[in-house]
Amino acid sequence: MRSLVEGVEIDGRHWIGGARVGSAESFKSISPIDEQPIADVSAGGEAEVDAAVNAAHKAFQTWRRTSPAERAAYLHKIADLVEARVEQLAVVETRDNGSLLRSHRRGVMPRVAMNFRFFADWLLQLDHPDFDVRGHRNHISYDPSGVAGIITPWNAPLMLGTWRIAPALAAGCTVVYKPPEWAPLTASLLADITAEAGLPAGVFNVVQGLGRNAGAALTRHPKIRRLSFTGSVPTARTIAAAAAPNLVPLSFELGGKSPFIVFADSDFDLAVSTAIGQYDNAGQVCLAGSRILVEESIRAKFQEAFLEKAKNIKQGDPRDEIFDIGPQISRPHFERVAGFVERAKASGLKPLIGGGPNTDLGGLYFRPTLFADPAHDAEILREEVFGPVLCLQSFKDEAQAIAMANDTEYGLAAVVMTGDEKRAERVTREVNAGLVWNNCFFVRDLRQAFGGNGKSGIGREGGTWSFDFYCDVKNAVFAPHGWRK
Ligand code: NAD
Repeated sequence: MRSLVEGVEIDGRHWIGGARVGSAESFKSISPIDEQPIADVSAGGEAEVDAAVNAAHKAFQTWRRTSPAERAAYLHKIADLVEARVEQLAVVETRDNGSLLRSHRRGVMPRVAMNFRFFADWLLQLDHPDFDVRGHRNHISYDPSGVAGIITPWNAPLMLGTWRIAPALAAGCTVVYKPPEWAPLTASLLADITAEAGLPAGVFNVVQGLGRNAGAALTRHPKIRRLSFTGSVPTARTIAAAAAPNLVPLSFELGGKSPFIVFADSDFDLAVSTAIGQYDNAGQVCLAGSRILVEESIRAKFQEAFLEKAKNIKQGDPRDEIFDIGPQISRPHFERVAGFVERAKASGLKPLIGGGPNTDLGGLYFRPTLFADPAHDAEILREEVFGPVLCLQSFKDEAQAIAMANDTEYGLAAVVMTGDEKRAERVTREVNAGLVWNNCFFVRDLRQAFGGNGKSGIGREGGTWSFDFYCDVKNAVFAPHGWRK
């Protein structure tokens, strides 16, 4: 089952116990750029997941005993190989998920390599100094917990996958990865890379397939000791229920409906251009500030400047570097986004811009859309659309801005644009979000704690938080030699 995608050979079978394994069933990966099938991929289920988890469980017995320095060396080797293949990975990812080739080339794929380097280096300085407890030596260690199941979505497939795979492997866990069925191809290339890096068989496994089959089988497998899931709230509920009988610790990175707050004292041009950036990746970004809240006194001016800039967003084939945004990932997702917009329009809301497919391009290209002043309980204001659809509202003062920002069941991110540093501190304290950006957006570093509040997730990853999750932290007390009670 080999396909040639943008000149790169992809083996669409699973990667289990260090070998390519097929399934009776398969599915086609469809490119969002032109809705053409580009590769055949195996569709695994219970049996393939069981084989992969057993392979990972067996490999764990040895992998868990490797030294941090050995594991770090493997991770650096993987990073070297990712760096050597940035171009291949970038072109395949763009064909598979429709995100911009230029950002894959310059930002995303280098970050994939960084995911491995960072956690390799962090592992080597992961240390909890011993301390004295009434004459006893107290020692805390980060012990690998076992097989980690990792399930991720399609909006940044390799980046989101490796940002969990790398710390899990660094921690001494072995991994079974279920990539997203709407963009499964770079996971297959990652399997090739781990093989080339000499990672022992069974340490890293990939089971391709649909969420309801392969994904579901992974979440209920009794030998899984950690489950990291990135995706939507409804799927998270199903997964939490499936994992409950085995009491598996979960890390959930879910959706958002984040506020983007613009105060009158902000740098106006910066506020407008940062707000326009919320359309990036055609709105398929969990962190997007999709509720733009603007102080009343500058609302008219902001709206005018925003619309002017939004009209100039260039939409088209993401492989062409001149374009700013591309298509939606798939026909079902496109229909879902269109459904939100149609229902908003049917309720009486008139889009200030966009509001439908980009008819010049056809296919899965949806125009950047802005709705103004939806009702407090409007679906478009409360639900995550995950498309290029933003809402604009205004507020009278800081207290109202905070109340509106927090009026959501989510709590992933918040953006605050203000020229007043004291206000930035105050609003940051009050806003209910796991990540707050003041006068900037998406300033990311792997040392940061990453995660959301409320329905946006459970737990944090990044830095030591990732090791806290993937490890069984052990406390050991050593009495001094010859100790008598
Ligand atoms: P999704 O929940 O439909 O699917 C995500 C993954 O879960 C896929 O790999 C899918 O195959 C799998 N899956 C589906 N059903 C399953 C089941 N029953 N059991 C096990 N696995 C199952 O989400 P999506 O539409 O692919 O992604 C979009 C969502 O992801 C949005 O809500 C977005 O906000 C969120 N997201 C969050 C972050 C974050 O870090 N917080 C990052 C990116 C995306």
